[in-house]
Amino acid sequence: MYDRDVIVVGGGPAGLSAAVRARRVRTYNLHSSSVMVISNAPPGGLADWTKVRMTGDGWSHEKGEVIDKLMNDIEDYSIPVKEEKVLKVKDQGDTFTVVTDEGEYTSLAVIVAAGMKMTWNEREYFGGKLFGTLKGYRFMEDHFEKLCEEEEGKTIVFVGTEKLDKTLELFKEINQERMEVKKVIDHGKNIRGYEEKDDEIMVLTEDEEIHGDHVLIDFESYQLDAITSDIVECEKDETGFIKTDKRSRVNEGLFAAGDVTGPPFSIAKAVGEGTTAGLESYRYVYRKKFGEEAPVFAFYPIHQEGEPTYFEIPELEDHHRPKLLDDYEIEDGRIIFRDCELEKKEENIRLLQLCDGEHRLGEIRDKLGNVDAVIKELIHGKALTLEV
Ligand SMILES: Cc1cc2nc3c(=O)[nH]c(=O)nc-3n(C[C@H](O)[C@H](O)[C@H](O)COP(=O)(O)OP(=O)(O)OC[C@H]3O[C@@H](n4cnc5c(N)ncnc54)[C@H](O)[C@@H]3O)c2cc1C
Repeated sequence: MYDRDVIVVGGGPAGLSAAVRARRVRTYNLHSSSVMVISNAPPGGLADWTKVRMTGDGWSHEKGEVIDKLMNDIEDYSIPVKEEKVLKVKDQGDTFTVVTDEGEYTSLAVIVAAGMKMTWNEREYFGGKLFGTLKGYRFMEDHFEKLCEEEEGKTIVFVGTEKLDKTLELFKEINQERMEVKKVIDHGKNIRGYEEKDDEIMVLTEDEEIHGDHVLIDFESYQLDAITSDIVECEKDETGFIKTDKRSRVNEGLFAAGDVTGPPFSIAKAVGEGTTAGLESYRYVYRKKFGEEAPVFAFYPIHQEGEPTYFEIPELEDHHRPKLLDDYEIEDGRIIFRDCELEKKEENIRLLQLCDGEHRLGEIRDKLGNVDAVIKELIHGKALTLEV
């Protein structure tokens, strides 16, 4: 028994796309999986940060647009998102244990999409009083102008390495002394993090607190290479990023997607890898549950021996543990799920109470008789999964 088929670590574009794909593969009657996202900050990741755009040559999705769409699916499919910090992902053989600052969760598969390791704890404050540079300075000019206009008389603290001066020069040119500027050079040791208090943000160093109304971290001045996810022990490349194969696989049951796998750092890549990791984790879990390849036709045209099973729900076995994936409402004598309905009768209500991922189908059959037709209806309606 475990908590979810798939646990996704990280709520950025990679993690959210992975979770949606793993939960609900839109292929014929495919059986959904149970999924949970754990993210130490509200969903969005870096992609929700000011001015981040998913771009092509002739189009651009504004900040948050991609995330809003992904979040619609997350909410629509009732995928729980827990705001906790993952400390460790432990491989226990058949399952994984994900240890957070608030508890432990178990799963058959894990997708690590925790993004790149930041310099300190800046993720907690990103998008508010704290912001950063990345990908060249061109778009920063507008941002600086707006800030200097709106925050005249206030203080901005610039943080970076010795190479920070280039950004500072640009800011000073735009600022024309409207804002007070402070500079903190990070030698990798003296900064201890950031903290917001009473309308101010502080840069905490070994021996002082530097107060300001805004903080700008000049990521461009840092050498962004030795950045990795230390929450999981696995093979990493020479600069510390998690190594995956073309299908986002790391080890048996372990997948990784997005910035955590290394450059290029972009939303498009994060969404692409997240989708792949989601589908691959789905296939992995399906094999664990039913002992056969998932018929994910169109995503993976596969040539199987024997008859194709695209229209069939796999064999229901006594060891399967049915688990409801969605809430339901009772109205006018019907039990209504998002995509399916049941008649409101005592047997159905009792069955739904036992579909909690803890009771085995064998026990349920012993108590209620043959419930297979209703279970299959709920699987078709994407309202139930069979865990193992
Ligand atoms: C300033 C800036 C500008 C950018 N501009 C662009 C742009 O214009 N176009 C573009 O395509 N890309 C841009 N990018 C890059 C893009 O934002 C990233 O490549 C993309 O967000 C990566 O997605 P991800 O899901 O892999 O990681 P992230 O977006 O970083 O998400 C990682 C998630 O994991 C969570 N997390 C981290 N550690 C833990 C933990 N221990 N436990 C639980 N949760 C954890 C985080 O809270 C976060 O929700 C920019 C990045 C920055 C910083």
